[in-house]
Amino acid sequence: MNSATYTINDKHRQQVPQLDVPPRLLLGPGPSNAHPRVLQALGMRQIGHLDPQFISLMNEIQELLRYAWQTDNPLTIPVSGTGSAAMEASLANSVEPGDVVLIGVNGYFGERLVDMAGRYGADVRRIDKPWGEVFSLQELRTALAQHHPAVLALVHAETSTGACQPLTGVGDLCREFNCLLLVDSVTSLGGVPLFLDDWGIDIAYSGSQKCLSCPPGLSPLTFGPRAVEKLHRRQGQVPNWYLDLSLVSKYWGNERTYHHTAPINMNYGLREALRLVAEEGLAARWARHQANAQLLWDGLAGLGLECHVAPEYRLPSLTTVRVPAGVDAKAVARTLLTNYNIEIAGGLGQLAGRVWRIGLMGFNSRPENVLLLLAALQQTL
Ligand SMILES: *Cc1c(COP(=O)(O)O)cnc(C)c1O
Repeated sequence: MNSATYTINDKHRQQVPQLDVPPRLLLGPGPSNAHPRVLQALGMRQIGHLDPQFISLMNEIQELLRYAWQTDNPLTIPVSGTGSAAMEASLANSVEPGDVVLIGVNGYFGERLVDMAGRYGADVRRIDKPWGEVFSLQELRTALAQHHPAVLALVHAETSTGACQPLTGVGDLCREFNCLLLVDSVTSLGGVPLFLDDWGIDIAYSGSQKCLSCPPGLSPLTFGPRAVEKLHRRQGQVPNWYLDLSLVSKYWGNERTYHHTAPINMNYGLREALRLVAEEGLAARWARHQANAQLLWDGLAGLGLECHVAPEYRLPSLTTVRVPAGVDAKAVARTLLTNYNIEIAGGLGQLAGRVWRIGLMGFNSRPENVLLLLAALQQTL
């Protein structure tokens, strides 16, 4: 072919400057700032995704994830993609067309579970609660008795509302009704007490960029024995090739066969993030999140601001603050960003315009960040 016949179009050949980003403090619903050690790990040279060194790194990630989740599940892996990818994998692999899936909807992410489960052919049933409230064991029992689902899905840490769904006793209830318990732990893993095996959670997923303080791009997923059994009993194929655990687990299991190229450097980052969790220890990490949240709540009260969620169900990793009458929520968030380099977020859905959302996740859960935000908020208001 004679290339002289064609002329290169330079229309899109833009001269963009070298990348420079402002030093934002990310105190919204995610992402949170990555720990410096995680950023350093991300920049390390690559090795191949089937290199023996990478395979031992994969084993380390799986072990450290089991620690963070307090589970012995062999099938515990990071899915390639953000939290929604593991959310999708959890449903694609556990739901067969026609399965009744009962979903607790008390926020934005419950709605997303409804949407996704429907796309995989589930017969979706929902129980609803106002945003900011949680489900009682009795309410769950009544709903299980009414719907007899194959899967009950709950959001442990509702990032849209700041409420923490109590999970003790729910696993036993699910066994009584012979259904799987699926839990969204995106904003709880590494920040909020979570005992996967003790609580009888069969399926859980999370994300790298909330309390684990790694950039977005990987999403932990775990399937317990009862969930694996349902996966093996499936009549048809998992209707999503990329997220099919029967294929992905051959790469993360003993066979190590190629499925898709693992995001090498993201796995370096996640390994470091999980190493930080193990180094600090879960008890200390959970206590730190709780203490800094308390500092924030006390400070907000001092400014005359009110939290949306009752103290006993309040998440330490995400706080919803009511916007006082006459205050423009968006303008306040904009001023915090432009004048102080602090990112917080507004409300979604039922809480749009009514709350701000403040995240204190992982590396960002530190007293100096709380005091800086409180001072900036006071100036802005
Ligand atoms: C952030 C979040 C997700 C989705 O994760 P992405 O990384 O945005 O895809 C799911 N559930 C909850 C509770 C979240 O906070």
